Amino acid sequence: KVHVAEVVADALDRSYETAASRRIELIADAEDDAAVRGDRTQLSAALGNLVENAVNYSPDDTRVAVTVKRTGDLVEISVTDQGIGIPERDLERIFERFYRVDPARSRATGGTGLGLSIVKHIAATHGGEVTVWSSEGNGSTFTLKLPVCVEERDLARAV
Ligand code: ATP
Ligand code: MG
Repeated sequence: KVHVAEVVADALDRSYETAASRRIELIADAEDDAAVRGDRTQLSAALGNLVENAVNYSPDDTRVAVTVKRTGDLVEISVTDQGIGIPERDLERIFERFYRVDPARSRATGGTGLGLSIVKHIAATHGGEVTVWSSEGNGSTFTLKLPVCVEERDLARAV
């Protein structure tokens, strides 16, 4: 059992320095202390990849927000940025291994295009999924959806 607040804290820690050096504000709203079943290291790596992308594909002096929401049996952890966004035609391909949108555009960040395929894999092995909403030039939101831990869910119903 892993508390989502821990996963959020781990993920933000990884990007803290890079974000600070570019005056990108990292905000976390994880008051709901939901728990999910799984591996803390893997879940932190998955969310960490989403936060890293949010920072990498955003201009300086912007804001990256991580929010946690519970909907029914799912915990939804969203990472929202005010970055370059993703063209609609590329949205369905970004989770493929080595796929990068317009390499010229993102060359400065020097990634390999593996991050999102790993996030997708970790979400799937935890019984969840990762979804994306994006507006080119305005920003993106990636959402990691995971089944809420059963005991927690039963507890919530009993209240
Ligand atoms: P790696 O994560 O392996 O270092 P990468 O960041 O290029 O490299 P992914 O994380 O898989 O690879 O992302 C794939 C592509 O999707 C990126 O190259 C980028 O074009 C696009 N992308 C991902 N996240 C965002 C985002 N938050 N805003 C804009 N574009 C994004
Ligand atoms: Mg990446």
